Amino acid sequence: MRKLFVENLQVRGSRVLVRVDFNVPLGKNGEITDDRRIQESLRTIEWLSRNGARTVLMSHWAPSKKKEDPKPSLKLVAERLSQLLRKDVRLAPACTGPEVKRMLQGLGDGDVMLLENLRLGPEEEKNDPRFAAELAELAEIYVNDAFGSAHRAHASTEGVTHHLRQRAAGFLMKKELDYLGSALESPKRPFVAIIGGAKISSKIDVIGALLKKVDTLIIGGGMAFTFFKAMGREVGKSLLEGDKVDVARKILEGGKTGSQARILLPIDCIAADRYDNDAERLVVDSGKIPVDRQCLDIGPATIELFSRTIREAKTVVWNGPMGVFEFPNFARGTFAVAQALVDCTKLGGITIVGGGDSASAMAEAGLESQVSHVSTGGGASLEFLEGKKLPGVEALSDA
Ligand code: AMP
Repeated sequence: MRKLFVENLQVRGSRVLVRVDFNVPLGKNGEITDDRRIQESLRTIEWLSRNGARTVLMSHWAPSKKKEDPKPSLKLVAERLSQLLRKDVRLAPACTGPEVKRMLQGLGDGDVMLLENLRLGPEEEKNDPRFAAELAELAEIYVNDAFGSAHRAHASTEGVTHHLRQRAAGFLMKKELDYLGSALESPKRPFVAIIGGAKISSKIDVIGALLKKVDTLIIGGGMAFTFFKAMGREVGKSLLEGDKVDVARKILEGGKTGSQARILLPIDCIAADRYDNDAERLVVDSGKIPVDRQCLDIGPATIELFSRTIREAKTVVWNGPMGVFEFPNFARGTFAVAQALVDCTKLGGITIVGGGDSASAMAEAGLESQVSHVSTGGGASLEFLEGKKLPGVEALSDA
Protein backbone atom coordinates (compact mmCIF):
# COMPACT_ATOMS: atom_id res chain seq x y z
CA MET A 1 0.00 0.00 0.00
CA ARG A 2 1.45 3.36 -0.99
CA LYS A 3 1.59 5.99 1.72
CA LEU A 4 0.87 9.71 1.64
CA PHE A 5 4.08 11.61 0.87
CA VAL A 6 5.03 14.98 2.34
CA GLU A 7 5.49 16.53 -1.12
CA ASN A 8 1.79 16.04 -1.78
CA LEU A 9 0.72 18.15 1.20
CA GLN A 10 -0.35 21.79 1.40
CA VAL A 11 1.61 22.98 4.39
CA ARG A 12 1.81 26.78 4.17
CA GLY A 13 0.83 28.33 7.49
CA SER A 14 0.12 24.91 9.04
CA ARG A 15 1.86 23.46 12.05
CA VAL A 16 3.55 20.22 11.06
CA LEU A 17 4.75 17.76 13.71
CA VAL A 18 7.68 15.78 12.33
CA ARG A 19 9.13 12.64 13.93
CA VAL A 20 12.82 12.56 13.00
CA ASP A 21 15.64 10.29 14.14
CA PHE A 22 18.33 12.41 15.79
CA ASN A 23 19.66 9.47 17.81
CA VAL A 24 23.31 10.36 17.07
CA PRO A 25 26.34 8.88 18.86
CA LEU A 26 28.17 10.82 21.57
CA GLY A 27 31.96 10.73 22.02
CA LYS A 28 33.94 10.46 25.25
CA ASN A 29 34.14 14.24 25.59
CA GLY A 30 30.40 14.68 25.16
CA GLU A 31 30.57 15.70 21.49
CA ILE A 32 28.45 14.47 18.58
CA THR A 33 30.81 12.12 16.75
CA ASP A 34 28.64 11.42 13.70
CA ASP A 35 25.83 13.74 12.56
CA ARG A 36 24.69 11.71 9.55
CA ARG A 37 21.27 11.08 11.07
CA ILE A 38 20.72 14.83 11.40
CA GLN A 39 21.94 15.39 7.84
CA GLU A 40 19.62 12.68 6.50
CA SER A 41 16.60 14.56 7.85
CA LEU A 42 17.51 17.91 6.28
CA ARG A 43 15.69 17.27 3.03
CA THR A 44 12.31 16.98 4.72
CA ILE A 45 12.91 19.89 7.09
CA GLU A 46 14.16 22.17 4.30
CA TRP A 47 11.22 21.26 2.07
CA LEU A 48 8.76 22.10 4.85
CA SER A 49 10.50 25.41 5.58
CA ARG A 50 10.64 26.39 1.93
CA ASN A 51 6.95 25.68 1.60
CA GLY A 52 5.97 27.82 4.57
CA ALA A 53 5.22 25.15 7.18
CA ARG A 54 5.63 25.86 10.89
CA THR A 55 7.71 22.83 11.73
CA VAL A 56 7.80 21.16 15.14
CA LEU A 57 10.47 18.44 15.24
CA MET A 58 10.58 15.62 17.76
CA SER A 59 13.12 12.83 18.34
CA HIS A 60 14.42 10.48 20.98
CA TRP A 61 18.09 10.55 21.93
CA ALA A 62 19.57 7.57 23.77
CA PRO A 63 23.31 7.64 22.97
CA SER A 64 24.21 5.27 25.82
CA LYS A 65 23.56 1.55 25.28
CA LYS A 66 22.70 1.18 28.98
CA LYS A 67 18.95 1.59 29.31
CA GLU A 68 19.15 2.95 32.83
CA ASP A 69 21.49 5.84 31.88
CA PRO A 70 19.82 9.28 32.00
CA LYS A 71 18.85 10.65 28.61
CA PRO A 72 20.56 13.88 27.50
CA SER A 73 18.92 17.14 26.55
CA LEU A 74 18.74 17.74 22.79
CA LYS A 75 20.61 21.04 23.23
CA LEU A 76 23.69 19.86 21.29
CA VAL A 77 21.48 18.44 18.56
CA ALA A 78 19.54 21.70 18.23
CA GLU A 79 22.84 23.57 17.86
CA ARG A 80 24.16 21.18 15.20
CA LEU A 81 20.85 21.30 13.35
CA SER A 82 20.87 25.11 13.40
CA GLN A 83 24.35 25.08 11.85
CA LEU A 84 23.38 22.60 9.17
CA LEU A 85 20.12 24.37 8.30
CA ARG A 86 21.74 27.81 8.60
CA LYS A 87 18.77 28.97 10.61
CA ASP A 88 17.90 29.21 14.27
CA VAL A 89 16.16 26.13 15.64
CA ARG A 90 14.81 26.84 19.12
CA LEU A 91 14.72 23.98 21.59
CA ALA A 92 11.62 23.67 23.78
CA PRO A 93 12.20 22.87 27.47
CA ALA A 94 9.83 19.87 27.27
CA CYS A 95 7.71 17.91 24.76
CA THR A 96 4.34 19.18 25.94
CA GLY A 97 2.96 21.77 28.35
CA PRO A 98 2.29 25.52 28.52
CA GLU A 99 5.82 26.65 27.66
CA VAL A 100 5.80 24.55 24.47
CA LYS A 101 2.41 26.03 23.50
CA ARG A 102 3.75 29.53 24.11
CA MET A 103 6.72 28.84 21.83
CA LEU A 104 4.36 27.49 19.18
CA GLN A 105 2.51 30.79 19.11
CA GLY A 106 5.73 32.56 18.20
CA LEU A 107 6.41 30.19 15.31
CA GLY A 108 6.10 31.85 11.88
CA ASP A 109 5.77 30.34 8.39
CA GLY A 110 9.03 28.55 7.53
CA ASP A 111 10.24 28.47 11.16
CA VAL A 112 11.51 25.31 12.82
CA MET A 113 11.52 24.36 16.50
CA LEU A 114 12.55 21.17 18.30
CA LEU A 115 10.84 19.48 21.23
CA GLU A 116 13.03 18.18 24.06
CA ASN A 117 14.18 14.52 24.07
CA LEU A 118 11.08 12.31 23.78
CA ARG A 119 12.57 9.77 26.14
CA LEU A 120 13.15 12.05 29.13
CA GLY A 121 10.09 10.38 30.68
CA PRO A 122 8.65 6.87 30.31
CA GLU A 123 5.54 7.99 28.34
CA GLU A 124 7.08 7.82 24.86
CA GLU A 125 8.13 4.18 24.96
CA LYS A 126 4.97 3.19 26.82
CA ASN A 127 2.91 4.76 24.05
CA ASP A 128 1.03 6.62 26.77
CA PRO A 129 -2.32 7.75 25.27
CA ARG A 130 -2.43 11.05 27.13
CA PHE A 131 1.14 11.96 26.12
CA ALA A 132 0.32 11.03 22.50
CA ALA A 133 -2.80 13.21 22.55
CA GLU A 134 -0.83 16.13 23.97
CA LEU A 135 1.78 15.79 21.22
CA ALA A 136 -0.99 15.74 18.62
CA GLU A 137 -2.41 18.99 19.99
CA LEU A 138 0.76 20.76 18.84
CA ALA A 139 0.01 20.44 15.12
CA GLU A 140 -2.47 19.91 12.31
CA ILE A 141 -0.31 17.64 10.15
CA TYR A 142 1.99 14.73 11.03
CA VAL A 143 5.09 13.63 9.13
CA ASN A 144 7.25 10.62 10.00
CA ASP A 145 10.82 10.62 8.70
CA ALA A 146 12.26 8.28 11.35
CA PHE A 147 12.37 4.91 9.59
CA GLY A 148 14.77 3.59 12.27
CA SER A 149 12.02 3.93 14.89
CA ALA A 150 9.11 2.78 12.72
CA HIS A 151 9.17 -0.77 14.07
CA ARG A 152 8.26 0.52 17.53
CA ALA A 153 4.72 1.53 18.46
CA HIS A 154 5.67 4.51 20.59
CA ALA A 155 3.72 7.68 21.36
CA SER A 156 5.54 9.70 18.68
CA THR A 157 5.39 7.00 16.00
CA GLU A 158 1.98 5.45 16.57
CA GLY A 159 -0.11 6.89 19.43
CA VAL A 160 0.03 10.43 18.09
CA THR A 161 -1.25 9.37 14.67
CA HIS A 162 -4.70 8.49 16.04
CA HIS A 163 -5.40 12.19 16.49
CA LEU A 164 -4.11 13.66 13.22
CA ARG A 165 -5.94 13.37 9.92
CA GLN A 166 -2.99 13.81 7.54
CA ARG A 167 -0.07 11.53 8.29
CA ALA A 168 2.66 11.54 5.66
CA ALA A 169 6.06 9.94 5.04
CA GLY A 170 9.05 12.27 4.84
CA PHE A 171 11.71 12.05 2.11
CA LEU A 172 13.97 9.67 4.05
CA MET A 173 11.09 7.41 5.08
CA LYS A 174 9.93 7.28 1.46
CA LYS A 175 13.40 6.39 0.21
CA GLU A 176 13.66 3.53 2.71
CA LEU A 177 10.22 2.17 1.82
CA ASP A 178 10.87 2.51 -1.92
CA TYR A 179 14.18 0.61 -1.84
CA LEU A 180 13.24 -2.10 0.62
CA GLY A 181 9.71 -2.41 -0.77
CA SER A 182 10.71 -2.85 -4.38
CA ALA A 183 13.45 -5.34 -3.46
CA LEU A 184 10.78 -7.52 -1.86
CA GLU A 185 7.94 -6.91 -4.28
CA SER A 186 9.57 -6.74 -7.69
CA PRO A 187 13.27 -7.55 -7.46
CA LYS A 188 15.36 -7.73 -10.61
CA ARG A 189 16.88 -11.21 -10.69
CA PRO A 190 19.12 -12.82 -9.70
CA PHE A 191 18.15 -11.62 -6.22
CA VAL A 192 20.83 -12.43 -3.62
CA ALA A 193 20.58 -11.85 0.14
CA ILE A 194 23.57 -12.04 2.47
CA ILE A 195 22.85 -12.66 6.14
CA GLY A 196 25.60 -12.67 8.73
CA GLY A 197 26.25 -11.72 12.31
CA ALA A 198 26.42 -13.59 15.56
CA LYS A 199 23.11 -15.25 16.16
CA ILE A 200 20.65 -17.30 14.16
CA SER A 201 18.06 -16.65 16.84
CA SER A 202 17.79 -12.96 15.96
CA LYS A 203 17.73 -13.60 12.19
CA ILE A 204 15.75 -16.80 11.89
CA ASP A 205 12.60 -14.98 10.77
CA VAL A 206 14.39 -12.94 8.13
CA ILE A 207 16.12 -16.07 6.80
CA GLY A 208 12.74 -17.81 6.50
CA ALA A 209 11.12 -14.85 4.76
CA LEU A 210 14.02 -14.22 2.37
CA LEU A 211 14.22 -17.88 1.35
CA LYS A 212 10.80 -17.43 -0.23
CA LYS A 213 11.94 -14.41 -2.23
CA VAL A 214 15.59 -14.71 -3.21
CA ASP A 215 17.43 -16.87 -5.73
CA THR A 216 20.45 -17.30 -3.47
CA LEU A 217 20.82 -16.85 0.27
CA ILE A 218 24.39 -16.40 1.46
CA ILE A 219 24.97 -17.19 5.12
CA GLY A 220 28.16 -16.03 6.81
CA GLY A 221 29.39 -14.84 10.19
CA GLY A 222 29.07 -16.66 13.48
CA MET A 223 25.69 -18.14 12.64
CA ALA A 224 27.20 -20.32 9.88
CA PHE A 225 28.62 -22.69 12.52
CA THR A 226 25.22 -23.69 13.81
CA PHE A 227 24.42 -24.71 10.22
CA PHE A 228 27.68 -26.69 10.03
CA LYS A 229 26.77 -28.44 13.29
CA ALA A 230 23.41 -29.34 11.74
CA MET A 231 25.35 -30.91 8.84
CA GLY A 232 27.23 -33.04 11.38
CA ARG A 233 30.51 -31.13 11.07
CA GLU A 234 33.07 -30.30 13.74
CA VAL A 235 32.98 -26.57 14.54
CA GLY A 236 35.69 -26.47 17.22
CA LYS A 237 35.28 -23.54 19.56
CA SER A 238 33.43 -21.42 17.00
CA LEU A 239 30.23 -19.65 17.94
CA LEU A 240 27.40 -22.15 18.27
CA GLU A 241 23.77 -21.93 19.29
CA GLY A 242 23.12 -25.49 20.44
CA ASP A 243 19.37 -24.99 20.75
CA LYS A 244 19.12 -23.77 17.14
CA VAL A 245 20.74 -26.76 15.44
CA ASP A 246 17.35 -28.32 14.64
CA VAL A 247 16.08 -25.07 13.19
CA ALA A 248 19.21 -24.80 11.06
CA ARG A 249 18.71 -28.40 9.87
CA LYS A 250 15.13 -27.66 8.82
CA ILE A 251 16.26 -24.62 6.86
CA LEU A 252 18.91 -26.69 5.06
CA GLU A 253 16.43 -29.50 4.32
CA GLY A 254 13.97 -26.96 2.91
CA GLY A 255 16.76 -25.83 0.59
CA LYS A 256 17.40 -29.41 -0.55
CA THR A 257 13.80 -30.07 -1.62
CA GLY A 258 14.25 -27.35 -4.22
CA SER A 259 11.16 -25.50 -3.02
CA GLN A 260 13.30 -22.67 -1.79
CA ALA A 261 16.33 -20.65 -2.73
CA ARG A 262 19.86 -21.98 -3.03
CA ILE A 263 21.79 -21.58 0.23
CA LEU A 264 25.51 -20.77 0.12
CA LEU A 265 27.64 -21.34 3.23
CA PRO A 266 31.35 -20.59 3.70
CA ILE A 267 33.67 -23.18 2.15
CA ASP A 268 36.68 -22.10 4.19
CA CYS A 269 37.25 -20.00 7.32
CA ILE A 270 39.95 -18.22 9.28
CA ALA A 271 40.50 -20.27 12.42
CA ALA A 272 41.98 -18.46 15.43
CA ASP A 273 43.59 -19.92 18.55
CA ARG A 274 41.72 -17.39 20.71
CA TYR A 275 39.18 -14.55 20.51
CA ASP A 276 41.68 -11.77 19.91
CA ASN A 277 42.77 -9.52 17.07
CA ASP A 278 46.34 -10.81 17.46
CA ALA A 279 45.36 -14.47 17.58
CA GLU A 280 47.19 -16.91 15.33
CA ARG A 281 45.29 -17.30 12.06
CA LEU A 282 44.90 -20.44 10.00
CA VAL A 283 42.93 -20.90 6.77
CA VAL A 284 40.90 -24.10 7.14
CA ASP A 285 38.39 -25.94 5.02
CA SER A 286 34.99 -25.45 6.69
CA GLY A 287 34.63 -29.24 6.85
CA LYS A 288 37.89 -29.52 8.80
CA ILE A 289 37.76 -27.04 11.65
CA PRO A 290 40.25 -28.10 14.38
CA VAL A 291 38.61 -28.86 17.75
CA ASP A 292 40.74 -26.32 19.62
CA ARG A 293 40.15 -23.40 17.21
CA GLN A 294 37.40 -20.84 16.64
CA CYS A 295 36.61 -19.38 13.23
CA LEU A 296 36.37 -15.61 13.25
CA ASP A 297 36.12 -14.80 9.53
CA ILE A 298 35.36 -16.38 6.16
CA GLY A 299 38.36 -17.63 4.18
CA PRO A 300 39.77 -16.56 0.78
CA ALA A 301 37.96 -19.20 -1.28
CA THR A 302 34.66 -18.15 0.32
CA ILE A 303 35.41 -14.49 -0.36
CA GLU A 304 35.91 -15.43 -4.00
CA LEU A 305 32.66 -17.46 -4.14
CA PHE A 306 30.49 -14.92 -2.30
CA SER A 307 31.94 -11.96 -4.22
CA ARG A 308 31.30 -13.61 -7.58
CA THR A 309 27.72 -14.45 -6.61
CA ILE A 310 27.10 -10.89 -5.42
CA ARG A 311 28.66 -9.32 -8.53
CA GLU A 312 26.41 -11.42 -10.78
CA ALA A 313 23.24 -10.37 -8.93
CA LYS A 314 20.80 -7.69 -10.05
CA THR A 315 19.35 -7.10 -6.56
CA VAL A 316 21.33 -7.53 -3.34
CA VAL A 317 20.29 -7.14 0.29
CA TRP A 318 22.95 -7.41 2.99
CA ASN A 319 22.52 -7.66 6.76
CA GLY A 320 25.22 -8.75 9.21
CA PRO A 321 29.03 -9.05 9.13
CA MET A 322 30.89 -12.08 7.79
CA GLY A 323 33.22 -12.23 10.79
CA VAL A 324 34.40 -10.37 13.87
CA PHE A 325 34.98 -7.25 11.81
CA GLU A 326 35.68 -5.21 14.97
CA PHE A 327 39.10 -6.96 14.91
CA PRO A 328 40.99 -5.59 11.86
CA ASN A 329 42.66 -8.98 11.35
CA PHE A 330 39.26 -10.64 10.96
CA ALA A 331 37.50 -7.94 8.95
CA ARG A 332 38.60 -9.04 5.47
CA GLY A 333 35.50 -11.08 4.67
CA THR A 334 33.12 -8.32 5.71
CA PHE A 335 34.99 -5.66 3.72
CA ALA A 336 35.17 -7.97 0.70
CA VAL A 337 31.38 -8.30 0.75
CA ALA A 338 31.12 -4.51 1.02
CA GLN A 339 33.38 -4.19 -2.05
CA ALA A 340 31.38 -6.82 -3.96
CA LEU A 341 28.22 -4.78 -3.37
CA VAL A 342 30.01 -1.74 -4.82
CA ASP A 343 31.08 -3.79 -7.88
CA CYS A 344 27.53 -5.05 -8.31
CA THR A 345 26.20 -1.47 -8.16
CA LYS A 346 28.67 -0.42 -10.87
CA LEU A 347 27.40 -3.27 -13.03
CA GLY A 348 23.85 -1.93 -12.73
CA GLY A 349 22.58 -3.89 -9.73
CA ILE A 350 20.41 -2.49 -6.94
CA THR A 351 22.30 -2.91 -3.68
CA ILE A 352 20.81 -2.38 -0.24
CA VAL A 353 22.64 -2.47 3.08
CA GLY A 354 20.28 -3.16 5.95
CA GLY A 355 21.66 -0.87 8.66
CA GLY A 356 23.38 -1.86 11.89
CA ASP A 357 26.84 -3.48 11.72
CA SER A 358 26.82 -3.82 7.93
CA ALA A 359 26.16 -0.09 7.59
CA SER A 360 29.05 0.62 10.00
CA ALA A 361 31.34 -1.64 7.96
CA MET A 362 30.26 0.15 4.77
CA ALA A 363 31.07 3.52 6.37
CA GLU A 364 34.39 2.28 7.78
CA ALA A 365 35.38 1.11 4.32
CA GLY A 366 34.39 4.52 2.93
CA LEU A 367 32.05 2.83 0.44
CA GLU A 368 28.71 4.10 1.72
CA SER A 369 28.01 6.37 -1.23
CA GLN A 370 28.83 3.64 -3.75
CA VAL A 371 25.86 1.36 -3.10
CA SER A 372 22.23 2.09 -3.97
CA HIS A 373 20.94 2.47 -0.43
CA VAL A 374 22.20 2.16 3.12
CA SER A 375 19.27 1.85 5.47
CA THR A 376 19.21 4.08 8.55
CA GLY A 377 17.33 1.44 10.53
CA GLY A 378 18.97 -1.86 11.49
CA GLY A 379 16.06 -3.33 13.47
CA ALA A 380 13.42 -1.69 11.30
CA SER A 381 14.90 -2.90 8.02
CA LEU A 382 15.22 -6.43 9.41
CA GLU A 383 11.55 -6.46 10.44
CA PHE A 384 10.55 -5.02 7.07
CA LEU A 385 12.48 -7.78 5.27
CA GLU A 386 10.81 -10.34 7.55
CA GLY A 387 7.55 -9.15 6.03
CA LYS A 388 6.29 -7.70 9.30
CA LYS A 389 4.13 -4.62 9.29
CA LEU A 390 5.92 -1.68 10.92
CA PRO A 391 3.53 0.20 13.25
CA GLY A 392 5.05 3.57 12.31
CA VAL A 393 4.48 2.88 8.61
CA GLU A 394 1.03 1.33 9.02
CA ALA A 395 -0.05 4.45 10.91
CA LEU A 396 0.60 6.74 7.91
CA SER A 397 -2.31 7.77 5.68
CA ASP A 398 -2.68 5.88 2.43
CA ALA A 399 -1.75 7.86 -0.67
P1 AMP B 1 24.46 -9.45 14.99
O1 AMP B 1 24.20 -8.46 16.08
O2 AMP B 1 23.77 -10.75 15.19
O3 AMP B 1 24.29 -8.88 13.61
O4 AMP B 1 26.00 -9.83 15.12
C1 AMP B 1 27.03 -8.92 14.93
C2 AMP B 1 28.23 -9.45 15.61
O5 AMP B 1 28.56 -10.73 15.11
C3 AMP B 1 29.49 -8.64 15.41
O6 AMP B 1 29.76 -7.94 16.59
C4 AMP B 1 30.56 -9.65 15.08
O7 AMP B 1 31.73 -9.51 15.85
C5 AMP B 1 29.89 -10.96 15.41
N1 AMP B 1 30.43 -12.08 14.61
C6 AMP B 1 30.42 -12.21 13.28
N2 AMP B 1 31.05 -13.33 12.90
C7 AMP B 1 31.48 -13.94 14.02
C8 AMP B 1 32.22 -15.14 14.27
N3 AMP B 1 32.62 -15.92 13.29
N4 AMP B 1 32.47 -15.45 15.55
C9 AMP B 1 32.06 -14.65 16.56
N5 AMP B 1 31.37 -13.52 16.38
C10 AMP B 1 31.09 -13.15 15.12
